Amino acid sequence: MKLSIPTYAENVINVLLNNGYSAYFVGGAVRDSLLGNTPLDWDVTTSATPDQVMSLFPRHFETGIKHGTVTVLWDNKPVEITTFRVDSDYSDNRHPEQVVFAKNFAEDVKRRDFTVNAIGYNHNEGIVDLVGGQEDLKAGIIRCVGNPDTRFKEDALRILRGIRLASVLDFQFEQNTKEALINNKHLLKNISSERIRAEMDKMLMSDRSLKPLYDVCDVLFPELYACFSCEQNNKHHIYDVGTHSLKAAQYANGDIAVKYAALFHDIGKPAVLSTDEEGVDHFYNHELFSEEMAHEIFNRLKLDNKTKKEALMLIKYHSRLIEPTEKSVKKFLSKTSEEFLRKHLALRRADVLAQNSQYSAPKLQQINEIEEVLENVLASADAFSLKDLAVNGKDIMELGAKNSQIRFILNRLLTAVIDNQQLNTKEKLIEMAKNILNCR
Ligand code: ATP
Ligand code: MG
Repeated sequence: MKLSIPTYAENVINVLLNNGYSAYFVGGAVRDSLLGNTPLDWDVTTSATPDQVMSLFPRHFETGIKHGTVTVLWDNKPVEITTFRVDSDYSDNRHPEQVVFAKNFAEDVKRRDFTVNAIGYNHNEGIVDLVGGQEDLKAGIIRCVGNPDTRFKEDALRILRGIRLASVLDFQFEQNTKEALINNKHLLKNISSERIRAEMDKMLMSDRSLKPLYDVCDVLFPELYACFSCEQNNKHHIYDVGTHSLKAAQYANGDIAVKYAALFHDIGKPAVLSTDEEGVDHFYNHELFSEEMAHEIFNRLKLDNKTKKEALMLIKYHSRLIEPTEKSVKKFLSKTSEEFLRKHLALRRADVLAQNSQYSAPKLQQINEIEEVLENVLASADAFSLKDLAVNGKDIMELGAKNSQIRFILNRLLTAVIDNQQLNTKEKLIEMAKNILNCR
């Protein structure tokens, strides 16, 4: 079997092979190629030591030298080259005490996490599969290399890597691997938030079912875990809050802020659940609780400030309805931005798609209409933000307004202009600004 390798990666492995070293592509690239997907990056494992790799490739970075990894650049594209190694004792469920280089690929394979990630390839030998990885790939199975209990205890990150792979590939766990994963999931507490976030990002951005996340939800996100026992007895819903949240995050078509917002948008629901006389459940003001609880989760995950801020605002506004009218859309835009409105609509759509489909058609129709209105507003010359006004802060200052008053006055003018675009001339706005100033 011949895999199609991009030229830059082929050139890199050829340098190693032509210099007498043993070298294989390995990991996600081989796995994804065999599945018919196009890999993003090509990792190489080799008998060459990091020093030897660095002297063969003048353009390199010592990205993970402690683990025997050097990143080399070819045509400005990076290839990670890791020396064959065995992992020795782990003391903290994550970091091996020391890295010992291995003689050959067969030794190296034993330290890899899952069989589907341990398949090697080069064009001389073709596929080198020493652990039945191809068979598991065909059957859609995630199986640890070696004893799963030992492997998860050595490095608990493997638990979450397994969950991520099961989600992204839509694979099932082999029985022993699954049991060991459940028995050791509490060790995820020892994994850094950066690593957890990286796996979560990959899982969320794949748009695949997040069902596998349920198995570790009690450890990673107890707040979300509680949502799985919160039924929603009203006609709009057919899923408990947890299942609804996983589905909304899968269906959300947007960037990582929209994805995190979708996953946690309803997390405040269990706290505000009330049931009326007819037995119908309500969740008044849940978005405010969700925002507060998500804030804590995002801090724990160490989300970057931009993603955090945006996701929290999306959560806060997720149940706010805008009418599909120009006025309503312009008002929303004046307080936020086009980018935010698009993300808000993406979240709303995902929310609806994860509800009872019997009632979804008019809700989806309304979202489409708002999008159409948005396109019209953007295509028109109409004002909807402060920068579209025929006056600016300087004009208002010249009327004698204090610094602290300027934004307030401009916002008042914008509200008036959104109601009546005819007012957007310098003369009329100056007149209005004078009146506002005189009344204060
Ligand atoms: P992707 O690149 O699609 O995210 P990947 O499987 O290639 O997935 P990498 O983090 O690039 O993941 O790792 C490359 C390979 O290194 C893996 O396929 C696996 O063989 C091995 N590996 C990575 N992390 C671990 C780990 N924590 N324990 C054991 N082996 C690992
Ligand atoms: Mg990879």
